[in-house]
Formats: sequence, structure tokens, C-alpha cells
Amino acid sequence: MPSELLRLLPSIESALSTTLAQRLSAELNRELVRDLLREIIEQLREQITAARDSAISAFADSESIGNEIERRLLVRTKALLSPSLCRVVNATGVIIHTNLGRAPLAPAAIAAVSNIASGYSNLEYDLGQGERGHRESHAAGIIARLCGSEAAIVTNNNAAAVLLVLNTLAEGGEVIVSRGELIEIGGSFRIPEIMEKSGATLREVGTTNRTRLADYERAINDKTRLILRVHPSNYKIVGFTERPTAREIASLAQSAGIPSFEDLGSGCLIDLGPYGVKDEPVVSGSIKAGVSVATFSGDKMLGGPQAGIIAGSRMIVDSVRKNPLMRALRVDKMTYAALEATLRLYERGEAAAGVPVIRAMAETRQELGQRASRFCSRVNGVARGMIEAAAEDGESLIGGGSAPGVGIPTVLVALTSKALSAASVESRLRANGIPIITRLERDRVLIDLRTVRRDEEETIINAVAEITRGAAKSMASMNE
Ligand SMILES: *Cc1c(COP(=O)(O)O)cnc(C)c1O
Repeated sequence: MPSELLRLLPSIESALSTTLAQRLSAELNRELVRDLLREIIEQLREQITAARDSAISAFADSESIGNEIERRLLVRTKALLSPSLCRVVNATGVIIHTNLGRAPLAPAAIAAVSNIASGYSNLEYDLGQGERGHRESHAAGIIARLCGSEAAIVTNNNAAAVLLVLNTLAEGGEVIVSRGELIEIGGSFRIPEIMEKSGATLREVGTTNRTRLADYERAINDKTRLILRVHPSNYKIVGFTERPTAREIASLAQSAGIPSFEDLGSGCLIDLGPYGVKDEPVVSGSIKAGVSVATFSGDKMLGGPQAGIIAGSRMIVDSVRKNPLMRALRVDKMTYAALEATLRLYERGEAAAGVPVIRAMAETRQELGQRASRFCSRVNGVARGMIEAAAEDGESLIGGGSAPGVGIPTVLVALTSKALSAASVESRLRANGIPIITRLERDRVLIDLRTVRRDEEETIINAVAEITRGAAKSMASMNE
């Protein structure tokens, strides 16, 4: 009877007086808990009135209604008390996973962030002169050395870098781009749209699969300000294709008396060929080829913090610095700290060992095979037949819109279970205290240890053990 149930709903004041509500009021604040209780009681009132929730019939007395209110209050406050941004274990094998925060930082970069963030710094202070300095001076020298450019400047991300370069060099004029390079990167970065926002007019040339140097040449007129070449980061055109090299674009632009700009996307600072990533352009290669300015991300293949890097001629970098938009797109001291520390690892030749994304790429199939087989024995040890782990060959992905179509051979750990569906194992791992993100493929849960730190293996083993215990318990209670 809805009307009788409605009478059992407590007043806000009495709901606030329970031990749980009192404790949560102390941890959060009383007003917030009062608001939540008001919403929960109102929601129950509606559900009882509509009698659409079959569970409602279970609230036969005021005690069960009280329990339900507490249960809902706990669910709501748990979300409020835990941070929204949390660490996860990336067991997908996608090395630069945009949804999972792209590049994890090197320990040296973390130490630098912590050191700079915990106190004051010379962010905009010239220690030699004892006067105001420029934040853009940080990291500029080391970037220029690593890229072989005259100058460099750091922005919030590569999208900002592209916008700034286009706006600075081509506002009110035309920019020539190949139709094969009018790309969209995940998260709504589209070359034609960024071009429009920069105030430049897009001048498309060639076709999707073939663009020749002559196409660019024909399009040059007195409104042309720039030739843009874009790394088709997340797709590959195969078959009957043609695309001028960076050197050809650079020399055409030079002879026309205009600058050339290459959006490299990922921005490799070293040749990744030895790790199975072939054909990924290195930034210094573009600069050497004569490109006037190149931009790339700090948190893709470079393996640093979110940032955009503009490397190029002194004249171009100086005009970018003076652009009023620069102020809106500049970076924080923590970014400089992390970026500079990451770049030092490259300068010392320690990137393969010290930069996590490069290290993940560099780990061999053989090393991963050994890790996977040890990991399988440990899983099978704790899972007591409830979940079974077996190693199999597979591929890791670079991801993050880098090196499209490049898979690196790896050894995967496949989890199967007779008691639980693969989807249920996947979602239970995802619901772990430190969430574990896996691949779900053909009714199996796949774990690629390439993106799992050695000390994170323990987290996965413990989660599997807990899932096993939970499943065993519910099976036992079904058999009772
Ligand atoms: C990823 C990418 C961008 C955007 O870089 P963010 O650092 O994500 O802003 C721009 N251009 C290309 C070619 C890219 O690959």
C-alpha cells in the first residue's frame, strides 16, 4: 500500500540523526548531507507513489526503509569523498592511451614537478640580473638543441601550438594543405576547423591519396602565407599514393619566399626503428630538411607532460611569443619542470631506459614472454581454478594517434573462467580499488604487461584473488 509506506518515510531531521548521517556530516558537511537526504527521501517518495520499482515492496517497515536510505546515502557520498581523477592500471597494451592520460611521467620528471610545485621558483625571474624574467626561457634551449632548431617555445598542447603558428603566420591569408592531410584527431581537433579559428583560409590541393609538388606549386599566389604539411597521425593511406617529402615542401616554400610548417603530431626525438616503430619522422629530420617551423605534443611519443612544442626559426618563434594568444595558451611551472626533466633524459641518451613510453616500446617480446609466464603461474596460483591464465602471442599498439597501423609483437595473458563471463571479469577488474583496464576480445580478458609496471603486477594478482574469493563465496551460497 503506497500510502502506508509513505507514512514510514522518516523526516529529514530524524534521517540526519542516524550514526551514519552524523559521521558523514562530520566528514563532509552537514548541509550537503541534509541536501542528499532530502533528495533520497524525495526519490523514495516518488518511487513508492509510482510503485514502479519492484524493490519498493521490500521496504515493508521503517527499519528496511531506514536501511535503504543509508545504502543510497553511502553510494552518493562515496562518489563525493573519492577524487574524480584516480590512478588506473593500463593493461591494454596501448602505450599512449589518450583515454588513460597518455604518457606516464619518468621518475625524474615526477621529482622535478614535486620539487618545483612545493615551493616558489624562478618561473618568471632572472636570477642573474635579480629582475623580472621570461617563463618562455625555460626548456627552450634544450628543445632547440634536441631538435636542431634555432629556437623553441612551449604551449598548452599541440592543438594550441598549431593554432598559434597558423594565427601568427597566416591570419588573413591562405594556407596550402594536401587533401590527404585534412585530418581529425580524436577529441575534435580537425585541421579545417583549427584553420578557420586561426583566421587563415584553407587552400586544399591534390587528392586524398595523391598530392604532387606541382599541386602545391600551382596553388601559390600572392595571398599564400604558408605551406602546411600534417602527419596523418591516426590513419594510413596505402596503395596508389604520393606525397612530397618535407624537404621538397620546404624548398618549394623557400623559393616562393614563404615559410613551411610541419605538424608532426607525436614528435619523436629519437629514431624508434630499433623498437619496431619504422617510418616515424624524427623532429630534427624535419628541421634539417629545411622546414621553417615544426610542432608536436609533449605527451605522445616524447613521453613527457601535456604540452605543445614549437621548434623553428628564431624569427618565427619570436613572433609567436609576441602573439597575444600566447598568453592564453602558455603552460604552468609544473609542465616546464616535467618537460625539462624528460628532455634531459634524451640529452643524456637515457630515454630508452628512463622515459616510460620509450621503455615500454623497447621491452622485447622475449622479456614480455618471461614476465607473462611468471604472471600466469601467479594468477593460476591465487585463482584456484576459478580463473585461468594462459600466455599467447599478440600485438601492443603505440596509440595516441601515433604510428598508425604499427603493432609491436608482445605476449598477452588471456584470462578465462568457467564460473564468470569474460565481461564480468573485465568489469570486476575495472571496479577494483585501483581500477585495472584490460582488453575484452572474443570472450576473453586480455592483459598486455607491456604497459603494466612491474610493481603494478601485484595489484592485478590481488584483484584476481579477490574476484576469485567473491565468485567462490557466491557459488557456495547458491549451493546451500
Ligand atoms: C595529436 C595531434 C594533434 C593534437 O595534439 P594535442 O597535444 O593532443 O593537442 C595535432 N596534430 C596532430 C597531427 C596530432 O597527431
